[in-house]
Amino acid sequence: MIRIGLGWDLHRLVPLRRFLLAGVELEADRGELGHSDGDVLAHAVIDAVLGAAALGDIGTLFPPSDPKWKDADSMELLRLAFSKVKEQGWRLSNLDCVVTCERPKLIPYRERIRAALAAALDVGPEVIFIKGKTAEGLGPIGEGAAVEAEAVCLLER
Ligand code: MG
Repeated sequence: MIRIGLGWDLHRLVPLRRFLLAGVELEADRGELGHSDGDVLAHAVIDAVLGAAALGDIGTLFPPSDPKWKDADSMELLRLAFSKVKEQGWRLSNLDCVVTCERPKLIPYRERIRAALAAALDVGPEVIFIKGKTAEGLGPIGEGAAVEAEAVCLLER
């Protein structure tokens, strides 16, 4: 059986926060605001894998109202979420993602991000891909006020 999952997330970008994508810190003058560490890509991937297995979503598993998740390491949340997916017998076939922000450029970090996601999801980096896009200066993402991530995954069992 195969199942497709879709995840999306957006975070504000503000000064004095780290800019994290799958736990990899990018050099930037702003970072993601969030109750957790704000890692927008980790959050989109969590919703993709949970959604494919119909096991809930990031908000129900790790409610932002719970102080336990304040400043949480989102890659740890991903490992926790994916352990529930694995318990149901699923394994990841592939994961494809888009991250949209005006800056910084994602390319120099892409291989590290793929490796970090691969390690958390028990696969090799060859089944994971990440594209960096800009919003062409339009809207809050184009103005550098936000970053958005989308993730699509395929699970098999
Ligand atoms: Mg989020």
